[in-house]
Amino acid sequence: LKMDHTTKFKKVDTISVDPLSEDPDEFIDQLVKSTQTRHRHQVKQISPLPLDTPMKEGHTRFVCISDTHGEHRKLESLPKGDVLLHCGDFTDLGKQKQVEDFNEWIGSFKDFKHKIIIGGNHELSFDPKIVAEVRRRALDRTFCWYEYINKIPPAITDDWPKVLSNCVYLQDAEVSVNGIRIYGCPWNPEFGGWGFNTKRGEDLLSKWNKIPGDGIDILMTHCPPAGFCDQVEHYQWEERVGCVDLMNTVQLRVQPKYHLFGHIHEAYGYVTDGQTNYINCSYVDRKRRPCNLPVIFDFPNPPDA
Ligand code: 5GP
Ligand code: MN
Ligand code: MN
Ligand code: MN
Repeated sequence: LKMDHTTKFKKVDTISVDPLSEDPDEFIDQLVKSTQTRHRHQVKQISPLPLDTPMKEGHTRFVCISDTHGEHRKLESLPKGDVLLHCGDFTDLGKQKQVEDFNEWIGSFKDFKHKIIIGGNHELSFDPKIVAEVRRRALDRTFCWYEYINKIPPAITDDWPKVLSNCVYLQDAEVSVNGIRIYGCPWNPEFGGWGFNTKRGEDLLSKWNKIPGDGIDILMTHCPPAGFCDQVEHYQWEERVGCVDLMNTVQLRVQPKYHLFGHIHEAYGYVTDGQTNYINCSYVDRKRRPCNLPVIFDFPNPPDA
């Protein structure tokens, strides 16, 4: 028995690279211009549940945070819940000390039955490509701007799930809680050569293509999809930087109830397209100040769980 889920958009099995993959602003403009597609960008603000809302019988309470950037200890308390979710950028550079401290911190919350996290572009040591590059440069002693990563012992970078012993680390992987299916992955559009940076278009789409299309309830990515909580503020204008192919994947193929992410700090917020609730739960704000509240929601337990 599948639970009730309003699907507003016709579901497809395959997503092709969007012709406007590289230009999220133009992609959204084009969607809105056509009467055939404008319904895909009817974005409604929704207010998150007040943090003191009593837990509901027959539901699983999720507490969502992201982008703590090593400042997790400033979050002195967290709302009570069954599952804690973190959408990446839990460190500054993925250094061993910070990863260990984060693990210890997350381990101190005994009330959560499950703690689930993904990496972000700041978890440099979790990205095998960057780790390999650093090692190569260290060997031939050429300059590498990732030089700080040399301080991360190889044993740690090769075995990160063991360092994060107090939570479940998802990388292109799925976990079920009370029959609720959660999938997570760290990939994000190239920007400055950081961890899990991936080219827009085919390369990123190949990562999103790994997300199962048969009923994921909660999707965790580090980066936002185009059009939902993805605006960067410049001095005079705003620019969308979310992933176009992720937006197509979420709205047309995966159709989860919730899509959680962070990465674009200034776009912290909670919106819906009438099918999926999109939550940017970045803890730090545009000036990297730790200040935003965690976001909570209650997910009805599937009847056959
Ligand atoms: P972080 O370094 O924590 O991943 O991202 C910090 C900030 O960098 C974001 O809040 C956003 O202002 C900016 N940023 C991150 N990714 C992009 C991107 O792809 N394009 C632009 N223009 N800014 C980005
Ligand atoms: Mn643009
Ligand atoms: Mn961040
Ligand atoms: Mn980020």
